Amino acid sequence: MSLAEQLDTVTGSAAGTVDRHATTETFESTAPASGAVVGVFPVHDEAAVGETVTRARAAAERWAALGFDGRKQRLSAYRGYLARRMHELADLVHRENGKPHADAILEITLAVDHLAWAAGHARKTLGPRRVSPGLLAANHAAYLEYQPLGVVGVIGPWNYPVFTPMGSIAYALAAGNAVVFKPSEHTPAVGAWLAAAWRAAVPDNADAFQVVTGYGATGAALCRVPVDKLAFTGSAATGKKVMAACAETLTPVLMELGGKDAMIVDDDADVAAAADAAVWGAMSNGGQTCIGIERVYATEAVYDRFVDAVTAQVRTLRPGADGEATYGPMTMSSQIEVVRRHVADAEAAGARVVTGGTDADAFPAEGYVAPTVLLDVPETSAAVQEETFGPTLTITRVRDAEEALQRANDTSYGLAGAVFSASKDRAMDLARRMRSGMTSINSVLTFASVPALPFGGVGDSGFGRIHGEDGLKEFTRAKAITRQRVPLPVNLMSFGRPANAADALARVMGMVHGRHR
Ligand code: NAD
Repeated sequence: MSLAEQLDTVTGSAAGTVDRHATTETFESTAPASGAVVGVFPVHDEAAVGETVTRARAAAERWAALGFDGRKQRLSAYRGYLARRMHELADLVHRENGKPHADAILEITLAVDHLAWAAGHARKTLGPRRVSPGLLAANHAAYLEYQPLGVVGVIGPWNYPVFTPMGSIAYALAAGNAVVFKPSEHTPAVGAWLAAAWRAAVPDNADAFQVVTGYGATGAALCRVPVDKLAFTGSAATGKKVMAACAETLTPVLMELGGKDAMIVDDDADVAAAADAAVWGAMSNGGQTCIGIERVYATEAVYDRFVDAVTAQVRTLRPGADGEATYGPMTMSSQIEVVRRHVADAEAAGARVVTGGTDADAFPAEGYVAPTVLLDVPETSAAVQEETFGPTLTITRVRDAEEALQRANDTSYGLAGAVFSASKDRAMDLARRMRSGMTSINSVLTFASVPALPFGGVGDSGFGRIHGEDGLKEFTRAKAITRQRVPLPVNLMSFGRPANAADALARVMGMVHGRHR
């Protein structure tokens, strides 16, 4: 029996793959495309979350004691397990989130690659090393290492139910922590599958990665129990609540929040490539991508050609649930109203609708949103300032790339973005000055597939980093140790130091540093 089939038995006394604890309340996860029940899961209360974290705390000690090599071996077994069962997991993602099977495969591929990188680079990034003791402690040896925090709580969203949480889970585990994961209430089956797969692949450390299911209150319980760090991915509004709850227990937080990412298309850009990337960046996954492109600023020189190329491509897209569909339904039905409001607001403000719009064709009853391209949307409107999280794109004509950059930077968000230009120097300069945590040049979203690169935002897009060396360090505390190798004849940090020692020290400092003006 596959793991996905076992999940469906969760209502029975065997409780499927999720430990119910003493909770009696349950909730259903349903397929957005059909409304069919995917699985029934416990609503874990604070007691259940507490029991889970207590088990994780004991597991964390054993997991940390394995050392880098022992953990690497087990994380490799997990990665192998996921890679061998990609289609089973992708099918579950397709059913529960609605995205096409092929997109789910892509998402799982990225997650597996991050698992490999995190496990393979943990020792080099975090392991004990000697550092220079400097002039003042030349008689000491100085050591630095990055120690695990203990238990890391991970609260995840539904839009990339494998890739996004794995950015925290893989790096926290590789750093030596146990993890308790609370998946979104819209994708609990995927979260439960990931934890069940861990138990199957790593039976000797099964409790190092556990899952709790439920709504926001279950996530909030993780803050209160508390854990040693809370890695939150979701909307800025919920992030603020999570931070407030974590403040009560002084639990440190990592915030991966929403975005309003922009693409700049410069005079010398490859317009066809930019249009292709913009359409993928905006419409893939039904636009439900935190680092999706929601705004394009194209210069006078390329604007008309760019709009034509985007329009031609968008007309070939077809949302649906079958194997030929380019993207699926909106995972969360309430988001449909947000998208409709943004489009209606833009229309009312004088925007030109190239494709999509607000009529019934654009928002069919089955929960799809037609690909929507909007021109001349005022910069103050919701479609430009707020996260839309749907298959929409605004395209705005600007004088030059400088104006494009200024407008791109003019939102409260700062997650990622893209620059299209034939000039490497020009593109690098624009990318550096883009107010965002990540920027890709002549492509979209690429940074997410480079495990060595940190991932995270600025402003309302959050703080802290997953992925890369920064992502490993995020789930550790730096530990500093000095060891005296030889005593000095004069010990300055002793009440027994000679009276003239401070004068001698001041003279030496004058010689070493005093010449700098
Ligand atoms: P959300 O904020 O509604 O929910 C996220 C998670 O928080 C869910 O698991 C939810 O149950 C939980 N939650 C809700 N209330 C809580 C509370 N009071 N305390 C603790 N937990 C609580 O977000 P969503 O709709 O699931 O996801 C979409 C959002 O996530 C978008 O804004 C998107 O941009 C963002 N996102 C960001 C990244 C990133 O890496 N920056 C990645 C993916 C998604």
